[in-house]
Amino acid sequence: MRKKLIAGNWKMNNDVAESLILAERLKVLSEEFDERVDVLVCPPFTSLYAVNDALRTSGIKVGAQNMYFQDNGAYTGEISPKMLKSMGIKYVIIGHSERRQYFNETDEDVNKKLKAALKYSIIPILCIGETLKEREEKKEKQVIKNQVIRALENIKSSDVDKIIVAYEPIWAIGTGINATSMQANEMAIYCRSCISEIYSSSLADKLTILYGGSVKAGNAKEILSQSDIDGALVGGASLKAEEFFKIINFAK
Ligand code: PEP
Repeated sequence: MRKKLIAGNWKMNNDVAESLILAERLKVLSEEFDERVDVLVCPPFTSLYAVNDALRTSGIKVGAQNMYFQDNGAYTGEISPKMLKSMGIKYVIIGHSERRQYFNETDEDVNKKLKAALKYSIIPILCIGETLKEREEKKEKQVIKNQVIRALENIKSSDVDKIIVAYEPIWAIGTGINATSMQANEMAIYCRSCISEIYSSSLADKLTILYGGSVKAGNAKEILSQSDIDGALVGGASLKAEEFFKIINFAK
């Protein structure tokens, strides 16, 4: 059985002091978390060390929102998987649509970043998703398939089972318009079938697939009860401890 994961992407929000207030509140709430659900928060880089330290004795995991694929070198402003690893970071979001959209991240970059994360035993959360235009043109499945194929190029099956996939339709991210639970589940099932085609059905069955896009306490229950959705990647609603806690509670 796949374990549910609720991951919070804080994006470019919360300075160190604000991050610690949120982390401390989550830590208190975590005493009531159900062990059947994994909880992850991904603060901005500047808060990563402090939040990781603050949550060390809680069950809450801490991840990064991005990383570069090189170990070190003349890449001003970038952070490497080696650096994340040295901080004890075990998760990283890769290929978020905001990185693809605003920072021109390509499928090739995503592939290199996945390989680099895996090399350092950091669990990558691979984000995929179509634009509104692509959905209106009924191309969403083709888009997802291409993103999956390109992201996983030359990654062996023994590594793929360490990857988490987040299906995040771009039109639903930060817009307040979530995909319906049926749409989200249909795409999760399709994504699983792509993995089955490239690798095997047993690997596809094991894959953790999250849905992301305007998940909040009000819609989480229905989305999280779908057969092929194993959790959520939550942006805006993860910035409010109580709301995030409610979402976690729907994941049991
Ligand atoms: C995200 O950042 O991945 C996300 C899904 O954001 P939001 O929940 O705000 O739509």
